[in-house]
Amino acid sequence: MKSPLAETLGGLRVCGPWPAIAGGGDAVMKLKSIAGIRTIDTRTVRPPAKAADPELLSPEHRRWAADVKKRAGYQCQAVVDGRRCEVRAPARLFADHIIERKDGGPAFDVENGQCLCGSHHTKKTAAARGARLSGRGGRGFKSPS
Ligand SMILES: [Zn+2]
Repeated sequence: MKSPLAETLGGLRVCGPWPAIAGGGDAVMKLKSIAGIRTIDTRTVRPPAKAADPELLSPEHRRWAADVKKRAGYQCQAVVDGRRCEVRAPARLFADHIIERKDGGPAFDVENGQCLCGSHHTKKTAAARGARLSGRGGRGFKSPS
């Protein structure tokens, strides 16, 4: 049995309580028929397209990152509650700028580098960004927790 609403929409099936009443098989058919509906981007301002920072692709950066990870023994250098994080290669590791480049930290100085696991890198980056946005600056933040 067709509902009057479905007819007014030109055959577009509409979800409602009636498929359960009409029968289970019919409900599955209705879900399949609406699966092809396209999504609409309603954002008025779109974020800039994601592009890798060209500096991060440079040979200098690759060498710096390799040196930072090697110096750390390929283990995350985050210290939490007095204990060093135990994540190590082959887990994915990140060479992190202790003072971020955005905050004026030297890009290719191994002294400004630390090896972090994905979790600690994300936490540190978010904390540095928060400090920058709140006007406290990203300088001096070293140990992620
Ligand atoms: Zn870690």
